[in-house]
Amino acid sequence: METNTHILDTLSRPIRDLRISVTDRCNFRCTYCMPKEVFNSDYKFLRRDDLLSFEEITRISKVFSCLGVKKIRLTGGEPLLRKKLPILIEQLANVNGIEDISLTTNGVLLTKEVAQQLKDAGLKRITISLDALDDETFKAISDVKFGVEKVLKAIDVALAADLLPVKINMVVKRGDNEHSIIPMAKHFHGSGIILRLIEFMDVGSTNHWQMDDVFTAKEIVEVINQELPIEPAEANYHGEVAKRWQYKDGGGEIGIISSVTQPFCQSCTRARLSAEGKLYTCLFATQGKDLRHLIREGANDEHISDVVSAIWKKRTDRYSEQRTSETVLLPKVEMSYIGG
Ligand code: SAM
Ligand code: SF4
Ligand code: SF4
Repeated sequence: METNTHILDTLSRPIRDLRISVTDRCNFRCTYCMPKEVFNSDYKFLRRDDLLSFEEITRISKVFSCLGVKKIRLTGGEPLLRKKLPILIEQLANVNGIEDISLTTNGVLLTKEVAQQLKDAGLKRITISLDALDDETFKAISDVKFGVEKVLKAIDVALAADLLPVKINMVVKRGDNEHSIIPMAKHFHGSGIILRLIEFMDVGSTNHWQMDDVFTAKEIVEVINQELPIEPAEANYHGEVAKRWQYKDGGGEIGIISSVTQPFCQSCTRARLSAEGKLYTCLFATQGKDLRHLIREGANDEHISDVVSAIWKKRTDRYSEQRTSETVLLPKVEMSYIGG
């Protein structure tokens, strides 16, 4: 197979990041992602046989690496529900050209042993999701019976295992947790841990998204700035998803992800692979290309590469720039399926 054929889409965007969902299942039922009215015992999750094997994921990742991908993020659903995940990480860490492997998790399965196994396998860094510091708000949003203590422990464990920098994803939804912005900012201020505040997005079709529920990036900045003055910071690299801000008192940085009110499609270099092997070129896609079928039908790497390359070269996605009251109603794939 021809190597390092770096490709561009119709908006001259290269393919740099691959987000791999390793399962569509989760041990949380966050109201903005997997509301339990839908994701209950009647919901048809993927079957074991539907999931790509680690070998299949690694093979697809090699193809993507040859087309320009340098970073891989493992996600889900809850990726730590996937058994023997360190084995996959080890395989991915050995793929030529992959410089960075990270993981997004809700943290409750991240014990000291698991964190060390992930680190030893080649995981570089971790993002842990946490939407509030008080148990009442946390339980209401995540729809779980335990409190934040478990997630805070996971953060400590990630730090101890050197999975740095540790980032915290906080989705801010109006009426649910804007009161948690300041407690969260104060808690992580000066810790070296990077809090990333995310606008509530219209991913999927089940979370009853409406614009009125979006606590905007501008509002987030105003709220934080009143208590803990911040100023914009330089982006680390072109295409960084989170807009960086730093505390004026030297207390470190935060990131704000404003997918709804200040879209960043122009620099979007991300492709997504669902747990059953469908390729999506946008988080808000309605359809994906089935790569598992190709692999299981015996396609060789050249053929898979040609298919991916053709899809990327035709890519026109810029959903967040084109969002309207009509697009919001499209039957988009769920976040838990496509991966965050
Ligand atoms: N279960 C893992 C977790 O929660 O970290 C990984 C998968 S989750 C889908 C990835 C990220 O997507 C999480 O940080 C979550 O908060 C975020 N997310 C899910 N639904 C969202 C939505 N509707 N708007 C914005 N972010 C969302
Ligand atoms: Fe699960 Fe993550 Fe979705 Fe919450 S955001 S339901 S933890 S996949
Ligand atoms: Fe990328 Fe689609 Fe998000 Fe735009 S809307 S930044 S194209 S994933």
